[in-house]
Amino acid sequence: MAHLPNFIQKLIDEFDKLPGIGPKTASRLVFDLLHRKEDIKILADNLNAAYQQIHLCPKCFNLSDDGLCKICRNPERNTKLIAVVAHNQDVEAVEKTSKFTGTYHLLNGLLSPLEGITPDRLKINELEKRISEEEVAEVILILDQSMEGEATAIYLSKLLKKYPLKISQLARGIPMGANIEYTDEVTLSSALENRKEL
Ligand SMILES: [Zn+2]
Repeated sequence: MAHLPNFIQKLIDEFDKLPGIGPKTASRLVFDLLHRKEDIKILADNLNAAYQQIHLCPKCFNLSDDGLCKICRNPERNTKLIAVVAHNQDVEAVEKTSKFTGTYHLLNGLLSPLEGITPDRLKINELEKRISEEEVAEVILILDQSMEGEATAIYLSKLLKKYPLKISQLARGIPMGANIEYTDEVTLSSALENRKEL
C-alpha cells in the first residue's frame, strides 16, 4: 500500500486486531470508513473520549468513565445481591432481561488451568474483600455453561462457603456449551428467576 497514505495501513492493522475480523474485513471496513468523513470524526472523537476516560469501576470492575460505574452509583440497585460474571458482554446480556436489580462483580475471565488462568488472575480476591466488607445476602454465579464456567463456579462456591450468604447458580435450561452473552433474553430471564441454591 505504498501508494496510499501511511495512516491507512495503520488503521487496517488496528481493525485487524479486533476479534472476529481478518485482514480482508479490516481493509473493507477502513476503505468504507474513509469515504465517510463525518463518521470518521464521530469515531475519532469517541475513541479519544474512550482513551481519556475509560477505566474499571473500583468496586465491580465494570467499565466506567468516572469513579464508580453507573450501576454501582445507582441507589435503586440492591447492593445485597451480587451477580458474578466473567465479562462485560455478560452484564449486557443480564441487563437486557430487566429482571436483575442487584449489582455485579466482573471476574475478568474464567478459570482455565490449561491457559494459565489461575484464581489470582481473576478478580476473586476483590470479590472476597467486597463480601467481607459489605452486607451481601446472595451471590448469583452467572457463568458460561462450559468447562471453564463450571470450574469457576465450583471454585467460588467452595471459597465462599465460609460466609453467611446464599450462593446460587442459574437454573438448568441454558444448553451445555452456551455462552451467557449469546443466550436469549427469555431463557436467561427464566434461568435467573428459577436459580438454584448451591
Ligand atoms: Zn461498578
